[in-house]
Amino acid sequence: MALSGVEIFKLLPKTNCKKCGHPTCLAFAMKLAQRQATLDLCPDVSEEAKKKLGEASAPPIRPITLGAGDKAVKMGEETVLFRHDKKFVNPCAFAIEVKDTQSEADIESVCAQVMHSEIDRVGQKLRIDAIVITNESGDAGKLETAAKTVAAKAAGVAVIINTTNAQAAEAAVKLFAGSHPVVYGANASNLDAMASVAKAHKAILGIAASGLEELSELTEKAKGLGVEDIVMDSGARKAKEIIEHNTLIRRAAIKKGFKPLGYPVINFIQRGDSMHEALVASVCVAKYSSIVVLSSIEKWKSVALFALRQNIYTDPQVPMQVEQKIYKIGEPKADSPFFITTNFSLTYFIVSGEIENSKVPCRLAVMDSEGLSVLTAWAAGKFTATKIAQFINDSGIDQEVSAKELIIPGYVAILSGAIEEKLPGWKITVGPREANAIPAFLKARG
Ligand code: SF4
Repeated sequence: MALSGVEIFKLLPKTNCKKCGHPTCLAFAMKLAQRQATLDLCPDVSEEAKKKLGEASAPPIRPITLGAGDKAVKMGEETVLFRHDKKFVNPCAFAIEVKDTQSEADIESVCAQVMHSEIDRVGQKLRIDAIVITNESGDAGKLETAAKTVAAKAAGVAVIINTTNAQAAEAAVKLFAGSHPVVYGANASNLDAMASVAKAHKAILGIAASGLEELSELTEKAKGLGVEDIVMDSGARKAKEIIEHNTLIRRAAIKKGFKPLGYPVINFIQRGDSMHEALVASVCVAKYSSIVVLSSIEKWKSVALFALRQNIYTDPQVPMQVEQKIYKIGEPKADSPFFITTNFSLTYFIVSGEIENSKVPCRLAVMDSEGLSVLTAWAAGKFTATKIAQFINDSGIDQEVSAKELIIPGYVAILSGAIEEKLPGWKITVGPREANAIPAFLKARG
């Protein structure tokens, strides 16, 4: 259970020595209670207090890393129910299922799709993060063969071994030594054996329960067996159940500090109909899933789910911004076109992408507008003639360009006269309102 600031204060040395960087022990205690400081800042705290505070200050949902290397996925560590309270921390992983009853060629094909699933959106790399290998056949040898194919064809991708047979799990998980896979399928009848496999191979234990009560009993037992890293499946499969269970789990962990449910959640949501699957997956993304298991990869589905995940896991209190500066796109010459826009990430990436598409080397001035888009920044007084003129003058760009022509977004055509007045010697040209018209605009200029 989380401790209050006063409860924490009682455990501190109370010397107000300031070594922690806070004026008093009470101020430090308040910061600890809000999770805005860490206990290691106080060098004088007693071992007993460290133990009590360490437990209390641990994140309510255990941080766990799935996979290893540059494709590893962090899960858990969440501290809030709603993203307007605080940013959600670790975006959920999307996993794709292969079955050991599929042909080798089919499994290889899925691996290839996973390896090529990465897209770049507003500067972030987004991809299918993991592969679930399901022991559909019930045959340990077939599971191992399928796992070998995945290990060879999707090297580096995080893996979830899905079987209730501990021996089959052991043979498959050996192929992913050191890469922190999940061994999923622990239940009331095989928990001891599956826990042994997970511990022996430093894997995450995936618990498959029928309902929340059984789930919390099983996680407690697994913990008692020495398993630290767990992902939980409550058995929910319908969207309504998933929302109910995932919400109850998150509430219990965060509001009540209920440790048996303080682990990342895995949801299996495979559907025959891809649209239906995408809709259920979007419920999981919004409502607290850490791993969403899909049946297939289609470009439209991946892009929609990646964009949703990205939006939900950005900080709503901090607009996504890029650095204020003059970017070169291609290798512009002194007389190449020169655009200006605001520093909202999406605006920058869309405008720069369209300039790239045009194949015309250009300069793009990106002005700090506190992450607002063009019209919003103009309305908020952050993208005005005075500020634009000052930015252009301060940038020293007039030493680099010969044409002294600045192309402004069509949405702020109204500023053209005022900018010309404030930037003597410059010609102000009104560009397109929408970025997708930039290639045609540049083509028309010749
Ligand atoms: S370092 Fe420890 S003892 Fe000193 S003021 Fe901070 S909390 Fe108190």
